[in-house]
Amino acid sequence: MNIKENLFKILEEIEDAKKYSITNEDVTLVAVTKTRTIEEINEVHSLGIDNIGENKVQELKNKIDLLNNSTINYHMIGNLQTNKVKYIYDKVALIHSLDRLNLIKELDKRAKNDNIFINCLIQVNIGDEPQKGGVAYEETESFLEKCLEYDNVKIKGLMTIAPNVNDELFLRECFQKMFKLKEKIKSKNYKEVEMQYLSMGMSGDFKIAIEEGSNMVRIGTSIFGSRN
Ligand SMILES: *Cc1c(COP(=O)(O)O)cnc(C)c1O
Repeated sequence: MNIKENLFKILEEIEDAKKYSITNEDVTLVAVTKTRTIEEINEVHSLGIDNIGENKVQELKNKIDLLNNSTINYHMIGNLQTNKVKYIYDKVALIHSLDRLNLIKELDKRAKNDNIFINCLIQVNIGDEPQKGGVAYEETESFLEKCLEYDNVKIKGLMTIAPNVNDELFLRECFQKMFKLKEKIKSKNYKEVEMQYLSMGMSGDFKIAIEEGSNMVRIGTSIFGSRN
């Protein structure tokens, strides 16, 4: 696996997809480094990637300690158990997986205690898949409204993991629904809610996601090869 070649190819593909994006926005690449070594992470970072994503708290925490590099922005992209918040809440740039009031309560408590703000995306379960985290699509706005009272947690947008299917039309519909939802929430001008990011698109579907309005993609396999 040649990480450099893979990465440059992906960056080109992102640029290509942007030409067909309905928003023309810039797209942030979060390199998903779960199961990858510190050397591999340092390699992508040296190639210009400042955003890395992990889906497990322990692995993320270990890597933050080992990398010891304040120029990297760490993204928590996996399910976050409330009792593990303490290990990472003050070390991450963005938590993509806010989907429960328990979780925002705990984040807000810790943030207030430290006098900091924590940035989160609300994860939406767009395919209604029982094995996946995320709030139901229909419940996103009411969940967001409940989040507003937790002042030290800032809602920065939405995240979704599309169903793992080969049906391009279906995927497009999922991404379109997410984009419309983001725009709808944005138009309501909630105080302190920015709706800056729409995090969607992985190795298999990032081009479609960008075309349909994603501005943050999370890519692992296409950069580093398949995981064991
Ligand atoms: C693993 C993972 C990704 C990256 O998936 P690839 O198919 O390897 O690109 C993206 N998002 C989340 C939440 C993940 O857990």
